[in-house]
Amino acid sequence: MSTALVTGCAGFIGSHLTESLLADGWDVVGVDVRDTANLSTAREYDGFELVQGDLAELELRELTECDAIFHLAGEPGVRGSWGERFDVYTLRNVTVTQRLLEAVRPGTRFVYASSSSVYGDALRLPTREEATPRPLSPYGVTKLAGEHLCVLYASQQGIDTIALRYFSVYGPRQRPDMAFRRFCEAIAGGEPIELYGDGHQTRDFTYVSDVVAATRAAGDAVRGGGRVYNIGGGSRVSLNRSLELLAGHAGRPLDVRRAGREAGDAHDTGADISRARAELGYAPATPVAEGLRLELEWVAAQRSLASLSARWQRRRSSPSWRLTSASSSMRRSR
Ligand code: NAD
Repeated sequence: MSTALVTGCAGFIGSHLTESLLADGWDVVGVDVRDTANLSTAREYDGFELVQGDLAELELRELTECDAIFHLAGEPGVRGSWGERFDVYTLRNVTVTQRLLEAVRPGTRFVYASSSSVYGDALRLPTREEATPRPLSPYGVTKLAGEHLCVLYASQQGIDTIALRYFSVYGPRQRPDMAFRRFCEAIAGGEPIELYGDGHQTRDFTYVSDVVAATRAAGDAVRGGGRVYNIGGGSRVSLNRSLELLAGHAGRPLDVRRAGREAGDAHDTGADISRARAELGYAPATPVAEGLRLELEWVAAQRSLASLSARWQRRRSSPSWRLTSASSSMRRSR
């Protein structure tokens, strides 16, 4: 039986990765500052243990004694990284990564969740790993610093690191601040969609199960030692095209309101995934049209569950329900 440490296990990608490992018989120790509904399936496994705490403070030596470490905890999001919250980004993305790397035994596989944000507006699309990183946001700078730490600890301390540059990950449980999630929530709630920029910007969107497959493959890969891989979805799609696809799934035209472009957003991203294909056997399997349908269905299902539960709570607290339930318990006790 193998044991993995998954940091950020209660987050969007970390929770899917945790479930995938558990389903294949791994024991998983998950660390997260939060405990979220994302973990409800993981909790059904005996092999799952949640350590709720901050990696900036936890004692890490014992936690890192395992067969593989998947370091997904971090402060994501480009827009929030400007201004005063930069401290949070340096602590969560740089200092925490360094603390973990210090605690890990040499030879342990350490997979780090890096980001396409390290490229900024790349000069060539699709972009290869050798391209000079030119982040456009403070977030991208911190993810690149974490990646450099992985390469450094591989060469100087013998930690068997692999950094994966994830490209715009989406699917069920996607973070609420991300574009597809905001679009799906607006559609399901019958509200207008706010689009930053003119919608011509393109992204290499990657469905979450493909990212999980790549991350698992990196955990098993023969070659580590500071290697870096692009993990993209296999094609580039504009935001306007993604809205057309969503309108098709919704079965009606969408009310899209255009807002200004956000500072730090690259205009285009595109992954050359030939290295991951050749060395990790990575082959993205979910096209954007299908992935968007799955995310929209998930958002709609979450909303109906939430409204059912709100209705149930309202009924429970209404005087007529209390009366009915009191009289039925009197009948039962007779
Ligand atoms: P997420 O916010 O849903 O998950 C991150 C989790 O890490 C959260 O649950 C958070 O509570 C936890 N965390 C953060 N700091 C912590 C700390 N100090 N101690 C313990 N827990 C901590 O984000 P996500 O979208 O699932 O992203 C996961 C990782 O992948 C991040 O490192 C992110 O930078 C990277 N990434 C994500 C994307 C994407 O499109 N979602 C793209 C590129 C890279």
